[in-house]
Amino acid sequence: MRTKLVAGNWKMHGSLAGNLGLLQAVRDGARGQAEIAVCVPYPYLAQARAVLDGSKVAWGGQDVSEHAQGAYTGEVSGSMLADFGCRYVLVGHSERRSFYGDTDAVVAAKFAAALKVGLTPVLCVGETLAEREAGITGAVVTRQLDAVLANSGVAAFSRAVVAYEPVWAIGTGRTASPAQAQEVHALIRARFVSDSAEIAAGLQILYGGSVKPGNARELFGQADIDGGLIGGASLVAEDFLAIHVAA
Ligand code: PEP
Repeated sequence: MRTKLVAGNWKMHGSLAGNLGLLQAVRDGARGQAEIAVCVPYPYLAQARAVLDGSKVAWGGQDVSEHAQGAYTGEVSGSMLADFGCRYVLVGHSERRSFYGDTDAVVAAKFAAALKVGLTPVLCVGETLAEREAGITGAVVTRQLDAVLANSGVAAFSRAVVAYEPVWAIGTGRTASPAQAQEVHALIRARFVSDSAEIAAGLQILYGGSVKPGNARELFGQADIDGGLIGGASLVAEDFLAIHVAA
């Protein structure tokens, strides 16, 4: 039985003063069986560590440089995230892919960079609405996974998490139905089975895309859905904790 994980993605939200209550409420209210984590903007990592250290709640970054160090102004390396106690880091979030030019190759390099310093990468994959309507969801998701598998190998996924996030469901209030999500999660797991049945069986595959307290339980009840990556609802402690309990 895989342990479930509920991870929050704060995106570019927060303030030093405003975060405190949210972090404390999540820390003090986390009672679910599932693992729980928050991925916060870089400037708030120290605050997350100060509040969450020693608690059930892990923390992480939302992106990582593919480079270890050097003249890369504005970038943040994996070892810097590790310095702040991060356990997780998102790689390949659709907003990075679409707004900041993260290609499959760049995502694969970031995934490898995260693993190299002991972080657990949460590899985000998913299709756009146009791709779904064109009937190429499976091909898109497989292409995104294959880029990382070719670079890091299947064994790397014993130390990684995959998040299926249909782009059309992120921040739109439009959730994939449990059946739609399960179909893609099963396809993702099947892609790993062909390389290693053992890795496939243990792999946490999260669903992300407008998960709310009202739809979480049914989504998380699907055979291949091992928790969620939560955007908007992770900014409201009560909602995030309700989703955590549902996992
Ligand atoms: C996300 O940011 O990864 C996400 C899933 O956002 P939301 O839950 O708001 O759709």
